[in-house]
Amino acid sequence: MPYRDTPVVCSVCGRTFIWTVTEQRQAAEAGLPLVKPELCPRDRMRDPLTGRWLGRVKWYSPEKGYGFIIRGDGEEIFFHRSGVLPPGPAYLTEGTPVTFEIEETVGAKPKAVEVALVTPPAEEEGTGADGQAAA
Ligand SMILES: [Zn+2]
Repeated sequence: MPYRDTPVVCSVCGRTFIWTVTEQRQAAEAGLPLVKPELCPRDRMRDPLTGRWLGRVKWYSPEKGYGFIIRGDGEEIFFHRSGVLPPGPAYLTEGTPVTFEIEETVGAKPKAVEVALVTPPAEEEGTGADGQAAA
């Protein structure tokens, strides 16, 4: 099947984006099925459950009280320790996965706020953890 740039309407923001030949070829070469993406590249960088942005800590300086997060598209976003949720900035070591919101102020660069650690999914507790609901 020849690859072709395909316009797709994003199911989140409703904008049309192009599913490019390059993306299609990369998926094919990686052995992935050629399934049309539902989200534009921008919305793919969001946590589908919470809608929050996903990224990793590039660095954080406890002395300076600020650092940078790298979002999925490579964009580096400033954050200050006052914008970090508990347990606090001490846990923000290089490479730590985080979720965050972006605060945009006119005349200033966007900054990350409500920065939070990505917590692993909670363990299932109690009985009936085999996927069957107990009657
Ligand atoms: Zn979108």
